[in-house]
Amino acid sequence: MTLPLPLGSFPFPILYYHRVAPGVDPRTGVTPERFRRQMAILASLGYRGVTLREALALAAGQREIPGPLPIVLTFDDGYLDNYDHAAPILGELGFRATIYFVAERMGGRVDWTGDPLWGGHPLMDPGKARELVEMGFEAGSHTLTHPDLARLPEAEARREIAESRPRLSDLLSAPVTTFCYPYGSFLPIHAGMVREAGYSAARTVRRYRLGRPEDLMTLACRPVSGRMGLGRFALTAAAYRMLFPLRSSGGKRLRPERGESL
Ligand SMILES: [Zn+2]
Repeated sequence: MTLPLPLGSFPFPILYYHRVAPGVDPRTGVTPERFRRQMAILASLGYRGVTLREALALAAGQREIPGPLPIVLTFDDGYLDNYDHAAPILGELGFRATIYFVAERMGGRVDWTGDPLWGGHPLMDPGKARELVEMGFEAGSHTLTHPDLARLPEAEARREIAESRPRLSDLLSAPVTTFCYPYGSFLPIHAGMVREAGYSAARTVRRYRLGRPEDLMTLACRPVSGRMGLGRFALTAAAYRMLFPLRSSGGKRLRPERGESL
């Protein structure tokens, strides 16, 4: 298919997950069975799950996208269950994904919140993360310690953003080129810090709004939790199949409805 790609836009949808585990609380993730069905839906709609880095390369370098339409799959925090349950399902379909790791917490447990819903869950260690990187998964940065950047002094925020990049790169023997804001919390100054630190893009937790142009340092996405039914997942993915190429072609037929959430 041909996608006319205007400069400064990012024409592919991004999904955003946390955990994938049996019996997971639906507010924090999906079960492996549900995840498998969701990925099968994407494949049947003509999508291929890709990393953010691959999608950026496709958007920057080519107007002709070969084969299935890329859909970016992202996972926040680097849960061990992503390795145990999500990666094998993605591997079976030839899909890949970007996982955002917290550099100083790898191999440990979630300690950045006292909320029992999220706290204490085991995080992937560098060895397992390296295995995924060798399979073609992308390791992105989710800072050093998962702070709320908007509440940090400027120098601290800069350190969390900038130092996590070489730290993860050393741990995983891989380039780290994309970033994700913890809690989706950031100020405009932080987007500048992300750019200055050498990242090529960053994902927020902001949901897509029709007609809003995409800034690579504050990319929007569609969060997926266990509360999203399969029917809604399929409808959303089918809608993106139509909307994203339309939007990237200049949006003449797609009148922006400001504030309308997808
Ligand atoms: Zn996070």
